[in-house]
Amino acid sequence: MSTEVRKGEPIMYDTFERNINYLRISVTDKCNLRCIYCMPKEGVELAPHDDILRLEEIEKIVRSAALVGIKKVRLTGGEPLVRKGIIELVDMINNVPQIDDIALTTNGLLLPDMAGGLKKAGLKRVNISLDTLSPGKFAKITRGGQLSKAWLGLETALETGFDPVKTNTVVIRGFNDDEIDDFIALTCKMPVHVRFIELMPIGESDAWAGDSYVSTAELVEYVSGKHEIIPEKEVRGSGPARYYRVPGAPGTIGFISPISSHFCSECNRLRLTAEGCLRPCLHSPAEIDLRTPLRNGASEPELADIIRTAVNSKPEKHDMQQSGWRGNRRVMNQIGG
Ligand code: SAM
Ligand code: SF4
Repeated sequence: MSTEVRKGEPIMYDTFERNINYLRISVTDKCNLRCIYCMPKEGVELAPHDDILRLEEIEKIVRSAALVGIKKVRLTGGEPLVRKGIIELVDMINNVPQIDDIALTTNGLLLPDMAGGLKKAGLKRVNISLDTLSPGKFAKITRGGQLSKAWLGLETALETGFDPVKTNTVVIRGFNDDEIDDFIALTCKMPVHVRFIELMPIGESDAWAGDSYVSTAELVEYVSGKHEIIPEKEVRGSGPARYYRVPGAPGTIGFISPISSHFCSECNRLRLTAEGCLRPCLHSPAEIDLRTPLRNGASEPELADIIRTAVNSKPEKHDMQQSGWRGNRRVMNQIGG
């Protein structure tokens, strides 16, 4: 692991020479939906209010992380838009000089009222979860959510000028694998980057994900057999997705393969839970407590040292296909995906 300074800016490498510059922050473990692959019906036991990081604490962690090379921040959850003060938080992070990109992953339901404020505060990009285009199936998978609200969120995101606007579709055999063509048609009508994500056996879905899992290879074979698609160079903030486009379409189609293809060698991220634990790898239960030193008065350089140590412990790769999610005490809404 090393940190070097290039053009006056710190760059942090981990033990496997990966440049770690991206922090995903879960700002709450609460959610206004109960997606069947993410949360139990009754919800999860929420962390006590005092255990959740306050906005100024999150800001201080971002400032500390920026000292060692973090440049991009994504806010997630739970549902980040149910967090009180989220617009203020975007503004606070936008004022950290080294941070040049702030993104949000959301179910979109609250975007119609909040998109303008978020944009003004400095949010650049949004990813909206959209697993189905059928109102009945949407209600089923989210346990009661209304597709019309998520759809309005998507339309508002486009009108507000977020760029790019991406959607996340977790592909589930027997549930939405018959809608692939409809999602591709969407990219031909709207400048939306639809991403198909492999179902991960995490928390709620651990028991049934095996039978419902559809690999990217199977999907790509289906899609390329039915549609003319051409590889797309890069969509901004593309991370681990591979992108294609139907010629002439305003939107693109992306595939994210957390199970079938190890993108660990390109992993540039760290995660911060709502309770202030750093998680070097989504798939490993190892966590480093930042909240205690923070509340004991650690300075930004001291917190930056702890962040460097956490980066040092980032594993080379996960073996989720073998080990599943066992050993992880948290589920997705608590880590942020
Ligand atoms: N509530 C926000 C949302 O739904 O976009 C942000 C948090 S959610 C945990 C982040 C992403 O994780 C969503 O796109 C969701 O579909 C994905 N996710 C949750 N559980 C998953 C699983 N078992 N496999 C694959 N993706 C999952
Ligand atoms: Fe909530 Fe997002 Fe999990 Fe669905 S995927 S229950 S919207 S946190």
